Amino acid sequence: MSDTPHVYDYVVIGGGTAGSVIASRLSENPDVTVAVIEGGPSDVGRDDVLTLRRWLGLLGGDLDYDYPITEQPRGNSHIRHSRARVLGGCSSHNTLIAFKPLPSDWDEWEAAGAKGWGAVPMEAYYARLLNNIVPVDEKDRNPIARDFVDAAQQALGVPRVEGFNSKPFTEGAGFFDLAYHPESNKRSSASVAYLHPVLDERPNLRLYLETWAYRLELDGTRAEGVHVRTKDGEELFVRARSEVLLCAGAVDSPRLLLHSGIGPKADLEALGIPVTHDLPGVGENLLDHPESVIVWETHGPLPENSAMDSDAGLFVRRDPGHTGPDLMFHFYQIPFMDNPERLGHERPPYGVSMTPNIPRPKSRGRLYLTSADPSVKPALDFRYFTDEDDYDGRTLVDGIRLAREIAKTEPLAGWLKREVAPGPQITGDEELGEYARRAAHTVYHPAGTCRMGAADDELAVVDPELRIRGLEGIRIADASVFPAMTAVNPMVGVLMVGEKAAELLGGGA
Ligand SMILES: Cc1cc2nc3c(=O)[nH]c(=O)nc-3n(C[C@H](O)[C@H](O)[C@H](O)COP(=O)(O)OP(=O)(O)OC[C@H]3O[C@@H](n4cnc5c(N)ncnc54)[C@H](O)[C@@H]3O)c2cc1C
Repeated sequence: MSDTPHVYDYVVIGGGTAGSVIASRLSENPDVTVAVIEGGPSDVGRDDVLTLRRWLGLLGGDLDYDYPITEQPRGNSHIRHSRARVLGGCSSHNTLIAFKPLPSDWDEWEAAGAKGWGAVPMEAYYARLLNNIVPVDEKDRNPIARDFVDAAQQALGVPRVEGFNSKPFTEGAGFFDLAYHPESNKRSSASVAYLHPVLDERPNLRLYLETWAYRLELDGTRAEGVHVRTKDGEELFVRARSEVLLCAGAVDSPRLLLHSGIGPKADLEALGIPVTHDLPGVGENLLDHPESVIVWETHGPLPENSAMDSDAGLFVRRDPGHTGPDLMFHFYQIPFMDNPERLGHERPPYGVSMTPNIPRPKSRGRLYLTSADPSVKPALDFRYFTDEDDYDGRTLVDGIRLAREIAKTEPLAGWLKREVAPGPQITGDEELGEYARRAAHTVYHPAGTCRMGAADDELAVVDPELRIRGLEGIRIADASVFPAMTAVNPMVGVLMVGEKAAELLGGGA
């Protein structure tokens, strides 16, 4: 154990999406000292990370924690959950599709006990974001993606949307907004937007890179700081004079709490982990956006241009009584064959995919530990497609049927040679459902495992000011606090959680 004191006003655990925002905002005040404990290396100067279109190459590589999931009796047990091990976190790994959460998303949070997080007050935090959020640039709009948008509009009668963030929507087809710099295809991740410009200018901001936080230290009910291990194996204690901010993401925030004895008492005792604070909700309410895939072979190779190979999409509302969209699609100008291939479908030389996605899935999973050893990965049981009336599974079947309607419609139809997976012979509800669930993948949106809620919510982990219930000097700010999944892709919501957390702490605009 090093004798050097490592004492700061704020200790941010995880220099990821939310953590970068918070560290940047808090350190705007030169009188405040901030430490960031980040498990991964810097992304500065790393083209493999900073070039958005190289995102697929990061999956499963050395910058990926790569979490397996437990056996999924009704789903695809082969799914691996990528989680980025690099400054900027998953915003340095992801496709940077940037949706402002819909008003109905925030209002659902407020109704779930997140007082003060409704659509009206949350609007201000979107305006503060420093990321360069722009529609996919004209030069990056691939002709086949343009034709997908036209065909979807005609086949389903949905409006064309130019700028999904300009006003709330329930339906529409169009090119996404992305957090990127079109001229260089460089990411506008949380680290690029919030940390890179200030790294050399703020002596009050210290990054501990490639340093792993393995146990929180409590003095009674007050969080004192965190025990960390550096890349060279040195063990340090980093103390927070004011507060600890836990920003390690929806997998690693609950994991660190559980290894610190903060969680469901009986589970911790069964593993021999000394209980420091009984908190039954830690690891519960594991959410995701599952999606399936339908793949077509094209008549030949496609034009090359793109921002990141999935630049356009579609939202549909099947149930007019539903608030917000209830079915979403990404359009990929590549054949997304990993799961269909495992099920026996042959990879075509050229192709495209549509991926029906469940904006508001009803199945709920759980994260738990299987060992007291902090180096053992936690178990992720998403319980995909286990909701009582199979709403989730049926949504994917509806999605495949709608995708086929779009594929039959010009100008897209002329590009497509044949349906590769599941194949035109698969038409019945049952067979389509079986295929859709077995070929399902994730778009890597785990959330909800330390959910925010009201004082009478036994399973809430944080209160609406993001403070861990029953403890002092520690808050959580990342995707784990989501009480419910946003209907849209969650990253902008996470950035806004970061901005709001900074404000609660007295930093930022
Ligand atoms: C491949 C992929 C594609 C995606 N595409 C999109 C998309 O296009 N649009 C969208 O909206 N969302 C997308 N997402 C989801 C989105 O990126 C995440 O929801 C969001 O970035 C999560 O932010 P976070 O702050 O909760 O966690 P993260 O950004 O994961 O940050 C956590 C940080 O904590 C660090 N850390 C974890 N544990 C420890 C520890 N014990 N000690 C020290 N450091 C630790 C990690 O290294 C990481 O930097 C995608 C995700 C992935 C992986």
